[in-house]
Amino acid sequence: MADILKLVDDKASDLIRIADAIWDFAELGFREVRSAKIQADYLEEQGFRVTREAGGIPTAFVAEWGDGGPYIGFLGEYDALAGVSQEVSAERQPREDGGPGHGCGHNLLGTAAMGAAVALKQALMEKNLPGTVRYYGCPAEELLAGKVYMAREELFSDLDIAITWHPGSMNTVRLGSGTGLNSAKFQFFGKTAHAAGDPHNGRSALDAVELMNVGANYLREHVIKDATIHYVITSGGGQPNVVPSFAEVWYFVRAPRRNQVEEIYERLVNVARGAALMTETTFEIDFLTGCYEVLLNEALADVMWDCLQEVGPPQFDEKDLEFAKKLAETFDKAQMENLYKSPDFQEFPELREQVVHTSLLPPRGKGRSGGGSTDVGDVSWIVPTVQMSAATVPIGCPGHSWQHCASSGSSIGHKGMLVAAKTMALCGLKLVENPELIQKAWEEFREKTKDSPYRCPFPKDKEFPLDRFFS
Ligand SMILES: [Zn+2]
Repeated sequence: MADILKLVDDKASDLIRIADAIWDFAELGFREVRSAKIQADYLEEQGFRVTREAGGIPTAFVAEWGDGGPYIGFLGEYDALAGVSQEVSAERQPREDGGPGHGCGHNLLGTAAMGAAVALKQALMEKNLPGTVRYYGCPAEELLAGKVYMAREELFSDLDIAITWHPGSMNTVRLGSGTGLNSAKFQFFGKTAHAAGDPHNGRSALDAVELMNVGANYLREHVIKDATIHYVITSGGGQPNVVPSFAEVWYFVRAPRRNQVEEIYERLVNVARGAALMTETTFEIDFLTGCYEVLLNEALADVMWDCLQEVGPPQFDEKDLEFAKKLAETFDKAQMENLYKSPDFQEFPELREQVVHTSLLPPRGKGRSGGGSTDVGDVSWIVPTVQMSAATVPIGCPGHSWQHCASSGSSIGHKGMLVAAKTMALCGLKLVENPELIQKAWEEFREKTKDSPYRCPFPKDKEFPLDRFFS
């Protein structure tokens, strides 16, 4: 078993080089041209067959080695976040003012999954085992879109197992489900007029946006407590003395279950209808994406937990700990106190003594649906999916932050990434060597999905709105 871990170690310097390059590129969703290319080129060098622009999405690709079952897929991501550009420094020091940065560690995420695929391929070759190893280069996770679009193109449909991870502050296996989501821009069309000269001839699209938001804010009271609705106005007119003929508001609707999202979203569309009626405007919906909550497979989580224990936590050195400590000093004290009250810290009080996580936690989050969403959710309703987390940032590091970006470019990030690559590779190998584990995962999956088979939230005939997220 241990030799597959060595196969990852053999590639460690390549993985660190690629993760750092992607950290440096810091490309936003659907613009990850260089990040996708560096991984696709590397996988080609390693003997994988690469399909670029998979599903017609320019920065998506699928790399494959082997033939026949079982089909083991590793899911990778590589998009950055706007506004969190940062040097590897414990003081706020943007590399580019207001620029993007890897504040969610996706430079590590994709690279570790890629490393696991390369090691598993090598192991299957050496042991003469059957199977196909795939790496999915998935763009735009931060936009909750890449895997949804790839799912519509049925790129995951023949997989037996999907394996992934997320960088974070804990070494553990994830079982939390997050939330499902719909993301849509509501565009209102009115009639322009001189705002002082002949306002009676104007019909303001901005009025419609404002009334829609008022309606949505009243709607909040009458939806389930775990649902959230958030919006930003992306266009509100040009200047006050011109009645705006166009205005646009971008909404997220989230809830613990996909059917709840759909139900609340339909009510929000009614609110938009009402706003249009009141203002004598018309409206159109630019549906950007929708995703499922995550359905993590407990049978697979057990397998991955065994693997994580075999690999062990990252070994941080004095320099890492010193950097972590300095970074942690910048974290919000009230937020840290809240964290200490959370279930993990109640159950494992020794965590309070650690700056970075240097032990392991058994599978976490069962039955919990946190606030966030991920497009891993869609894959998890198509094929049994397992997801771990490895410590790449200090405990308490806020998500989507400059501190996260700093740590994702540091040796703390690298060490967590290698633990993830090893654990995922080992997990893949265990599954290939023990097909009954794959069967068990499918029994659980079939039972949990029998009443609600996957239906891609993104419509069949609609063109992917790749360039409409940041406009
Ligand atoms: Zn992320």
